[in-house]
Amino acid sequence: MGITYCGPYADALADDHEGYAARILPDGTETGTWTHATREFTGYRAHCACGWRGSAAYPATDEGENLAVETWGRDHLIPLVNTVARRHTVTGEQLLTLVRELRGSVDRVGDEQGAGLLHAVERIEELLDNLAHDEAVR
Ligand SMILES: [Zn+2]
Repeated sequence: MGITYCGPYADALADDHEGYAARILPDGTETGTWTHATREFTGYRAHCACGWRGSAAYPATDEGENLAVETWGRDHLIPLVNTVARRHTVTGEQLLTLVRELRGSVDRVGDEQGAGLLHAVERIEELLDNLAHDEAVR
């Protein structure tokens, strides 16, 4: 009935994040069950199967339903995915530390092999510089 995420890092997220537009009933209760008993409602609110609820209430229209679903994605799902993505991202500082360690190791290698390794390290440094420059431009 709801929306489940299947993009990057989906396997790392808990299975219980199914978003939906809950109906707000006249007595104030909110439900994801759309039956004859819940046919009269005053609006929609973003809900997730994990228990998360959006703060905004939207009109009882198709647009309101869409806004509730969009709220679930923007305010709940994307922050969860970003948290997982950060755990799987190598930072620039970690890469620079690795390159410095490589450069230190190259200095201890013989001339011919060392020249090839030094070239590889310099190429990595160049790529990192370009990445850093691209980040600064954004
Ligand atoms: Zn959730």
